[in-house]
Amino acid sequence: MDGVRPNPAPDREREHVVIEGTRVYPIVTPPTNSWSSGAVTHPTAFYARTMMPERGGVRCARVFGPFIELSCLCGKYRGAQHRGITCEKCGVLIESARVRGERFGHIALAAPVPHPWLEDAVIEESGLDRASFDAVYAGSAVMVGGAVRSLASSMDDDSALDDGVRGPWALRAHTERSHRASRWIDVIAVLPPALRENVDDFADVQPDLDALSARAREEGWGLERETPEDVRALFARPRAMDALLVEVVRCSQRLRESIEDEAPLVLRAFEASQLREATRALFGTPSNARRSGRRLRDLCAARVRAAQHDASEPALAALDRTLFAAGFARTPPADDR
Ligand SMILES: [Zn+2]
Repeated sequence: MDGVRPNPAPDREREHVVIEGTRVYPIVTPPTNSWSSGAVTHPTAFYARTMMPERGGVRCARVFGPFIELSCLCGKYRGAQHRGITCEKCGVLIESARVRGERFGHIALAAPVPHPWLEDAVIEESGLDRASFDAVYAGSAVMVGGAVRSLASSMDDDSALDDGVRGPWALRAHTERSHRASRWIDVIAVLPPALRENVDDFADVQPDLDALSARAREEGWGLERETPEDVRALFARPRAMDALLVEVVRCSQRLRESIEDEAPLVLRAFEASQLREATRALFGTPSNARRSGRRLRDLCAARVRAAQHDASEPALAALDRTLFAAGFARTPPADDR
């Protein structure tokens, strides 16, 4: 007998998150061209005057598909006879509006962020305590030779002013030897619009904004005719998931600008910490899990409950898509190492 044999994938087996009593496992997000229909780059959802999805925003019709059945955004092409055509004016591919429940977009983050659900593991891996980790991330401390130092003590040390001594860049380089790709995220999968709401378990079901937007288009609200007051009120209501995504896009854009402008590293690190906060708000962290909201964690929990109740094909597909947006899957990844 060989005695004790090592578990073939001990870390992967151990690395999981429990949602509603069900284990889910982190995945490494594949390259965006294999699953994403486009980048979300505009920090908004709807254009206020027309109430149409903003181009490049979190409800973009080019990325997520038409919100009126077989119709483009500008209205030039309508009907089944145009199926498969991409409108040269608005860039929308004419197809069924059902794809808005299937198609993903993505946000390319301007800096790596530790996955909010696996943050403890990342910090543990770095060998730092949480306060030091956060300080380096936010740029209020520097990291030289694997040790964290205060800003004051490193003022007269030239190496402390080099690039890569603070912010997520320094921390990621520091954890690189042991880091697993799923623990830091560079890209966020944006959940298809139709899956962001109308979850039965939520007490206050949100209005179907895509349907309202489609009606706005049909009836010429906004530009041609006054929008009914009650509809305007529905659009004005806070839309949790959209608003959280918008905030991530906004923070990422601001950080990207500060990098392009070659702002001092301390400022870039500060912008990166803002982005990290926005990401934590979107995903939800174990510590804020009890507060109600419509974060990815809540959505995943609702989908898990739905699938426990009714394990039908659509329920499982919705669960898998929502988990994918959170960087997780129902089964552990195959060990490819
Ligand atoms: Zn068009």
